[in-house]
Amino acid sequence: MSIDPRRIRERMVRDQIEARGIRDEEVLRVMRKVPRHLFVDEALQSQAYADHPLPIGHGQTISQPYIVAMMTSILKVSPGMKVLEIGTGSGYQAAILAEMGAEVYTVERIRTLYQSARQRFSKLKYFRVKTKLDDGTMGWPEHAPYERILVTAGGPDVPETLVEQLSDPGIMVIPVGEGRRFQQLLRLTKERGNVNREKMGSVAFVDLIGKFGW
Ligand code: SAH
Repeated sequence: MSIDPRRIRERMVRDQIEARGIRDEEVLRVMRKVPRHLFVDEALQSQAYADHPLPIGHGQTISQPYIVAMMTSILKVSPGMKVLEIGTGSGYQAAILAEMGAEVYTVERIRTLYQSARQRFSKLKYFRVKTKLDDGTMGWPEHAPYERILVTAGGPDVPETLVEQLSDPGIMVIPVGEGRRFQQLLRLTKERGNVNREKMGSVAFVDLIGKFGW
């Protein structure tokens, strides 16, 4: 018996993402397209489309599909935008952003994850995703400013370095604080020199480690 991953992705989008109220057609399209099962270890491929995060090694996880879709939709990405992601992990979220047409810069601090994500990007032909092995709480100053910044690990506060590297106007989505296990997902909107913070709901990400992390 062979299983068609496209059919499984259609179900995933219908039952986990549309069912929870995400209507952004572009987000739904890319969630149907990106082969999530190729971003996890072979032994976990049969669970790749399940409604929860999965381990990717080193105590890290690939986020639940719904969380990826929700963050991508809050970020409001348009083609051609420069987007900085902190926490490459498996590379899945970066691939989703690349499919949205973004020019993606992604930073990871764990070497083996960085290396396997790079291999996936080249195998799946995401040649335009730029990767860096470093402490992402410092951002990636050489290419700043970024119209969008997405942080996919939870720290104690918003690193000021990232606020500085955000364009005006610009949007940053970042899980922050409330102790180490749970965070509030924040949307920071920079406009005419002001930064507005809104709480978007409670989430549970792995730790953001680094100079301006835990
Ligand atoms: N976006 C990822 C989710 C990975 S989990 C995906 O789609 O799979 C969060 C990742 O953030 C982990 O890989 C962790 O190592 C990384 N991370 C934590 N602190 C970091 C930092 N300061 N700089 C860069 N990466 C960091």
